[in-house]
Amino acid sequence: MPPSPDAPPAAEPPPLGEPDAQAVAQVRAMLQVTEQTRTYPCPQCGDQYRFDAAIQALLCPSCGNRADIVIDPSLSRTDHDLATTMAALRQVLASQTGPDLNDKEVVCQNCGGHTTFTGTLTATRCPYCATPIQRDDVQDAPTRLPVDGVLPLKVDEQQARTQLEDWVNHRWFAPSEFKKYKTAGSFTSIYCSFFTYDAETDTWYQGQRGEHYTVTVGSGDDEHTETRTRWYSASGQVHDSFDDVAQLANTGFDDNKIGALEPWPTAQALPYTGEFLAGHLCRTYDYDAEAAFQLAQPRIDSAIDSTIRADIGGDEQRIDRKETRYNLLTFQHLLLPLWLLTVTFDGKPFQVFINGVTGEVQGQRPWSKVKIIAAVIAALIVIGIVLAIYAATKHKTGTGR
Ligand SMILES: [Zn+2]
Ligand SMILES: [Zn+2]
Repeated sequence: MPPSPDAPPAAEPPPLGEPDAQAVAQVRAMLQVTEQTRTYPCPQCGDQYRFDAAIQALLCPSCGNRADIVIDPSLSRTDHDLATTMAALRQVLASQTGPDLNDKEVVCQNCGGHTTFTGTLTATRCPYCATPIQRDDVQDAPTRLPVDGVLPLKVDEQQARTQLEDWVNHRWFAPSEFKKYKTAGSFTSIYCSFFTYDAETDTWYQGQRGEHYTVTVGSGDDEHTETRTRWYSASGQVHDSFDDVAQLANTGFDDNKIGALEPWPTAQALPYTGEFLAGHLCRTYDYDAEAAFQLAQPRIDSAIDSTIRADIGGDEQRIDRKETRYNLLTFQHLLLPLWLLTVTFDGKPFQVFINGVTGEVQGQRPWSKVKIIAAVIAALIVIGIVLAIYAATKHKTGTGR
């Protein structure tokens, strides 16, 4: 199909001039053209660099050689208008097919072993020789929303294991087997895809303000006061500003637990380069920026409701109608780091997540029926003893009179 004049513009050509940071990084990253994968070989010994959380640089596990991460100074994170960006993406998708996000099998350039990228996974480790391998055909594909920024992993494996240990040991009534699983389960660092939204909203509302008053009712011994509510109609307009509302864009994770890992220090996110992912897993988005916004919307709505309730005032509020206009709605696509423990217990998977920047731990856990029953019996025995002592002392004071 010949390019039509109203086709979306092609990607910006790289800036001309002296070799820039991006070019330097490009040389360092070894691109396997046939496999469309990328690795970061150490120039000193040929082993593969990993991004090391403790030193915030690339580190060779074999010879200890390190290399600083090169970020193109001309790159900065930009906000994208949600509606126009998604419209442009749909236009591209109408004429092009994107990278295959089902199974992509690649050959490890280090050992020749075959590895499969399943679903939205874009960075992994060779299962035979642990060489970090990244898919190079997804993040920059014109049919995909590009990555705007990445929060580099700050919590290293040792810290993550300490945090995990602490969390598991504080789970009351967890089966003893589960506590042992923390060493046996799969524990890995992974960058997940998030969309962060900025929004300016104006909301018009109609509702009611409830004011409490007390009345005395009854007579004689039965006389008492009661609190009642008088309702007045209320209406108005409120403005809300949202900054970096973060929404996970990957499937297969407990969204509530991931949400509880907040806050993410998104202001510290750096422009994207694949070097931050070297040696760690990474998933591109399953939900695009519009679908993820649907998931984030209840949180935005409840924040707007709080503003409305404050605006109505009084002791109680009712919101009967509201209409929200988005004067601005932009997003960024960020990769945020997690440590993920998955254990299968009693045939069910349990996931424990650690915020890879702040160390916050949130997770699912099993309950031990045996331990709970034992605790209930122990509690009943204690209550029984307390009641017996109470009855005995009462009896004594009673007879002492
Ligand atoms: Zn080396
Ligand atoms: Zn290999």
